[in-house]
Amino acid sequence: MSQQNDGCIFCAIVAGRAPARVLEENDTTLAFLDIFPITRGHALAIPKRHYQDIRDLPADELASTAAMAQRLAGVAFRDLGADGVNLFQSNGALAFQTVFHFHIHVLPRYQGDGFSIAFGRNPGDPAVLDEDLGRYRVGLRTVAD
Ligand code: AMP
Ligand code: ZN
Repeated sequence: MSQQNDGCIFCAIVAGRAPARVLEENDTTLAFLDIFPITRGHALAIPKRHYQDIRDLPADELASTAAMAQRLAGVAFRDLGADGVNLFQSNGALAFQTVFHFHIHVLPRYQGDGFSIAFGRNPGDPAVLDEDLGRYRVGLRTVAD
């Protein structure tokens, strides 16, 4: 497979040079268990090609990786006894990315599993929201579909 990165652990898993508990694969996508699971059944869906983050991934490979995550989430609900599932995906070290090969976490959730994400709950300042709206709208005009 082209577009592999020599120092990348996920590329090594794709190439069979590093071990993994592989759940499923197809031409473009691989799913395997996270070796440091946050909850039981914590899994990762990745494109087989190496892309650092969300900015680099072509939309069709994002779609196939998301479809793999969707399959895993369904099985987590149906067969692992999950009461909920979080999908999350990190881009950049500040956003907790530690492996710089794009991946989607599939995190089965259970009553009392202790995992929490603290979202802000304060209403946004209308002036700041409008400024951000403008920045996105101007920026989106220059981004290809
Ligand atoms: P992130 O912090 O979003 O970049 O997530 C990277 C994830 O990859 C972490 O949850 C790690 O536990 C996981 N991970 C790192 N190395 C391996 C490996 N060799 N096999 C399976 N999962 C891994
Ligand atoms: Zn890689």
